[in-house]
Amino acid sequence: MSHYCLKCGTELVTRVIEGRDVEACPQDDFVLWHDPKVTTAVVVEVDGGVVLGRRAIEPGLGLWCLPGGFVNDDEGPWEAAARECMEEICAAVELTRLIGVYHIPKRGAPSMVGIAYQAKLVDGSRPSPGTEMLEVGVFPPDALPPLAFPSHHQVLAEYRALPTSLAKAGAVGSRIGVAKAPRGRRPSRAQAPSRPRRRS
Ligand SMILES: [Zn+2]
Repeated sequence: MSHYCLKCGTELVTRVIEGRDVEACPQDDFVLWHDPKVTTAVVVEVDGGVVLGRRAIEPGLGLWCLPGGFVNDDEGPWEAAARECMEEICAAVELTRLIGVYHIPKRGAPSMVGIAYQAKLVDGSRPSPGTEMLEVGVFPPDALPPLAFPSHHQVLAEYRALPTSLAKAGAVGSRIGVAKAPRGRRPSRAQAPSRPRRRS
């Protein structure tokens, strides 16, 4: 499929740059780089467990995930992480630790660089479902429900391995708490974000 220059509209041609075949403009310096996207995931500790949301949208409709999402061009990854917590679990959080940085390979879409943080709730903040969630729950790190994204399995495994994680503190049992979306809050097509964002 032909691609065109974002600066001047000329059809791109293949050029070799730093040993890679890339599509580039024959008229100016535009190069169609295939860069990874940057996404975040947040392990929010509360009441002896971690907060998960059950997804009201695809991908992963009905499955559980960590709050998180793509980093916008005009924000740092830590700001994106806190913003996504506000949007997805309606909670103000304070990031307390970088858990890790991950490569998330994709087929037919840009790969991702995933950045995972640990966080705690800001005093007085309680999680509740945002428009993309059916419900939010607090789960012991060792007894998690079915997750939507393999990368979140990896994040939670690394979180559990941290010497200070709640898993090490011996949190046991099943779901600790849950808040459901109020009736009528379930997003319809009209209410769903107009630009659905892929998730890791
Ligand atoms: Zn051009």
